[in-house]
Amino acid sequence: MNVKNALVLAVVCAGLALVTAGCKKKEPAPGPAAAPEFQWQIDRFADLRVLRYQVPGFEALTPRQKELVYYLGEAALCGRDIMIDQNYRHNIKIVRTLDAVVRGYTGDRSDPRWAEFMTYVKRVWFSNGIHHHYSNDKIAPGFDAAYFAEVVRGTEGESFPLAEGQTVDGLAAFLTPILFDPAVAPKKLSQDPNADLVAGSAVNFYEGVTQAEVESYYKRLVDPKDETPVSYGLNTRVVKKGGKVVEEVARIDGLYGPAIARIVGWLEKAAGVAENDRQREVIEALVDFYRTGDLKRFDAYNILWVRDTDSLVDFVNGFIEVYDDPLGLKGSWEALVDFKDLDATKRADTISANAQWFEDRSPIDPRFKKKEVKGVSAKVITAAMLGGSCYPSTPIGINLPNANWIRRNHGSKSVTIENITYAYDQSSLDSPFGREFTFSPELLERAKTYGPLAGNIHTDLHEVLGHGSGQLLPGVGSEALKNYHSPIEESRADLFALYYIMDDKMVELGLLPNLDAAKAEYDLQVRNGLMTQLVRIQPGKTIEQAHMRGRAMVSHWVCEKGRPDNVIERVTRDGKTFFVVNDYPKLRELYGRLLAEVQRITSEGDYEAARDLIETYGVQVDQALHREVLDRYAKLDLAPYAGFVNPVYTPVVEDGRIVDVKIGLGEGYVEQMLRYGRDYAFLPAR
Ligand code: ZN
Repeated sequence: MNVKNALVLAVVCAGLALVTAGCKKKEPAPGPAAAPEFQWQIDRFADLRVLRYQVPGFEALTPRQKELVYYLGEAALCGRDIMIDQNYRHNIKIVRTLDAVVRGYTGDRSDPRWAEFMTYVKRVWFSNGIHHHYSNDKIAPGFDAAYFAEVVRGTEGESFPLAEGQTVDGLAAFLTPILFDPAVAPKKLSQDPNADLVAGSAVNFYEGVTQAEVESYYKRLVDPKDETPVSYGLNTRVVKKGGKVVEEVARIDGLYGPAIARIVGWLEKAAGVAENDRQREVIEALVDFYRTGDLKRFDAYNILWVRDTDSLVDFVNGFIEVYDDPLGLKGSWEALVDFKDLDATKRADTISANAQWFEDRSPIDPRFKKKEVKGVSAKVITAAMLGGSCYPSTPIGINLPNANWIRRNHGSKSVTIENITYAYDQSSLDSPFGREFTFSPELLERAKTYGPLAGNIHTDLHEVLGHGSGQLLPGVGSEALKNYHSPIEESRADLFALYYIMDDKMVELGLLPNLDAAKAEYDLQVRNGLMTQLVRIQPGKTIEQAHMRGRAMVSHWVCEKGRPDNVIERVTRDGKTFFVVNDYPKLRELYGRLLAEVQRITSEGDYEAARDLIETYGVQVDQALHREVLDRYAKLDLAPYAGFVNPVYTPVVEDGRIVDVKIGLGEGYVEQMLRYGRDYAFLPAR
């Protein structure tokens, strides 16, 4: 399921896999601008880094393929406003206002408050809105409301998104509580099981309705006997009109229409230069969906898309992942344009070709196994353009489509994005992170030697096999686990990967040189789930994000269950805490046991068990350990999250036709965000 999740997971792993410093990973063919001194990191602020990625292999595409990438890339950028609006209803107004000030403020830009203002703007851009992209908390500005009013007033030659009859001062006054009052829209996504999840979330999928109203609305729509149900509510917004609960549907003449019209325009151009008929049909089916908003057509598109495994260039464009919806129904808009990395794909092919072997031997109840694992297609790709919720914070792996019955009957496509992972690794080469949190020089050395490879294999197993493994019992839907669906699903895929990475089969298939590489991965996962991922949590807060909850749950569970045998040992040295794995075979056994339980929960839709597992092991934070980790981390002066600017593609036109496309990697972060804000602003500010 989980394009973005996987992605985020990977991001997280990659972000924390700083331990892989000095990696010996095979270097992809350098792109055109890949000088030895290539600067990977181009900006740094708050808890964020902005990196660039190279696109090795782009030059080797045919002119027609490049043209295809260009059109799909434009389609990827045209949905930017959709994601911003989905995250919070006033986000477009806010972003337009901030952009105008950055461009047109005539006052003193050497004022320290201006630096704070710019940090805030960069954070809002990064999160596609005013809530942190990862923690979901509203971002607190480092300047006050008076200064905000001052810079808005001091901006010249720019147009602000004014409501009818509104003055510039009126706009600043309107936005002031939204930006500065901690009680207004405090969280993008509420996960408090005791409160109304819909009312408590600022995310813009619902307006004026309660959780109970939304649930009863969909209960009426869903037929539990339907074996091929559409993804109800995926592309809609639920609102109340005249006292009735209704859906606004995203389509060319409906919700998000002006942006969708642009997307469709570029997709139609792309269809004209498709690599083959099958790919052309895929693109046309997506256009059909965007025109009608009909979810049956979205399924038809997905079936065509999953079957198209021959084309070199591929893409994702639409309402896909449901992590941002507290009820797990609404798809956030995202886009990715990519092409196959043929060499690296061989690795994923090997795993995919053995999918049935893994499924048959998986340590789960036979009732929950797929008798026949179908069409697990796996490939390694090179990202060429990121959009929507994949930008600037990017996944490193994707597994789609999400509809269970399509996965069951038609298979899924799974990809890992190698050039993004590579950029993470390269930008983290000299990070002190691994040294600080690794127990011994020997373990650090092993992590450096095998970390990157083991990380890639883990991602492949998670994506190619993990999400696609197992089956639900008849009558059980993926919505059964509600707000615990995502962390349970991610832990399931992780556990599948963790169980098998320590299997002799890995060496036999030539995927790992030896099982020391798997040990390096276990070290990383244990330390991350128990300790190092806490660097992403504010003091006093609990764990919210689905992948983090999943990882914390897995690590705390195996730690507790392995205590009698001292499988994982907590060691304190010079006042610093370390977690050391003493018994790798036993740890593998524990991963297998937990996989069996998580699969049972998933297959049976056992909500109570999912809740207990996640709430007991995946949410709470050891306050003392948390403080220690934050202190140690702060001394390293690192940023826990990274995102990417895109390349710039410029068509070369001769006689009215595109004959080539040039790629440029030189655009800065502010420059790119202001350009996107100017050229891809298609939706009205609410
Ligand atoms: Zn995943």
